[in-house]
Amino acid sequence: MSNNWDALVTFDQQHLWHPYTSLNHPTPVFPVKSASGVRLTLEDGRELIDGMSSWWAAIHGYNHPALNTAIENQLKSMSHVMFGGLTHKPAVDLAKKLINITHDDLQHVFFADSGSVAVEVAIKMAIQYWASQGQPQKQRLLTIKNGYHGDTFGAMAVCDPDNGMHHLFSNVLAQHLFAQSPNCSGQTTYDQTAIDDFEHLLKNNVDAIAAVIIEPLVQGAGGMRFYSAAYLKKVRELCTDYNVLLILDEIATGFGRTGTLFAYEQARIAPDILCVGKALTGGYLSLAATLCSSKVANGIGDGQHPTLMHGPTFMANPLACAVANASLDLLLNSPWQENVNRIEQQLITELSICRTFTSVKDVRVKGAIGVIELHQALDIHWMQPRFVELGVWVRPFSNLVYVMPPYIIEPADLSRVTSAIKQVVSEITETSP
Ligand SMILES: *Cc1c(COP(=O)(O)O)cnc(C)c1O
Repeated sequence: MSNNWDALVTFDQQHLWHPYTSLNHPTPVFPVKSASGVRLTLEDGRELIDGMSSWWAAIHGYNHPALNTAIENQLKSMSHVMFGGLTHKPAVDLAKKLINITHDDLQHVFFADSGSVAVEVAIKMAIQYWASQGQPQKQRLLTIKNGYHGDTFGAMAVCDPDNGMHHLFSNVLAQHLFAQSPNCSGQTTYDQTAIDDFEHLLKNNVDAIAAVIIEPLVQGAGGMRFYSAAYLKKVRELCTDYNVLLILDEIATGFGRTGTLFAYEQARIAPDILCVGKALTGGYLSLAATLCSSKVANGIGDGQHPTLMHGPTFMANPLACAVANASLDLLLNSPWQENVNRIEQQLITELSICRTFTSVKDVRVKGAIGVIELHQALDIHWMQPRFVELGVWVRPFSNLVYVMPPYIIEPADLSRVTSAIKQVVSEITETSP
């Protein structure tokens, strides 16, 4: 039977790009009619339990009354004004909140319109800081392999050099330094070999390095890898010893996902520059922020290049700031830590069995993140519709089936997600090519 949404999907597949897709070989897309709580309702009436929080963002679930009200109220006074020469309460309130909940060192906020842009701004801050200090040759970044920091050119240049897009854009990407990534197993000590490699690169290139950029504790889209707080602490110490700035990219990990409000808290350290995004607005609108210490802000401002060279058109959009304020209030007044711990325990209990499946290389859980790493790349054309048949929304990629559900998910709903994962992963050898 033909219907409106068949036509909609057909048009979509012919004309719209989705993230990382080809228009000649489109992967299936499922039209969503509405979303509420942890449920997505498809146009054909099927309901899916959401395991993804729309890529780390919708931590309170969808269609939340408090977040809806915040946007509606803001809409009645103004939806947007330029941030050049003007300011407004939603932005100032949000900056205050971010300064309050992050490390005391972080006192200054730049509002960006997406995570990638927040990373671009962080990189500019670091380079401008050294230029202002009379060291303009310090323009390179040191990072670790398997990282992901976004899709714009500056951010892309610090993504993993092999699984990222370096080969395709090699002549236009800045050449940065990549240390081996710490191993994924030891969670209490640090990987000495990885630290040695990191220190070696730092030591040999220190005159050219502006900053280290790293995702704290969890490497997201570059491989869903977890590493120890001890490694992160060591990285902070080395940055201090060699006098380079430390940029932490908490765009995925920020706002409670790993069990602390920010992942860096688990290493008891502070970054010089911090990027947040994704869950900042509870998944409602695109907004990100780059925070920095007074050392960095004043270091830029006191020098030869005192103006931070960035200013997006939609900087500090009032609607986005208003919903971010409401989302942070909601988070901080909720038992988020208990929720994240409960999800963590349930993921450990229910996913561990997958270790016994022949297709599975590793199962790992940290905070409200569960990851099944397969031996081989999975077939998305088969796997995605299979998850939908089982009534859950899980979006695997490469050789990774992973979930990061909204913090409000009930145990019974989470069990449906983990059961579907067990089912689908157990079918891999039989069904998938
Ligand atoms: C998603 C992500 C980004 C990029 O954010 P966008 O809003 O997609 O531009 C950067 N860093 C990390 C760690 C991310 O997970």
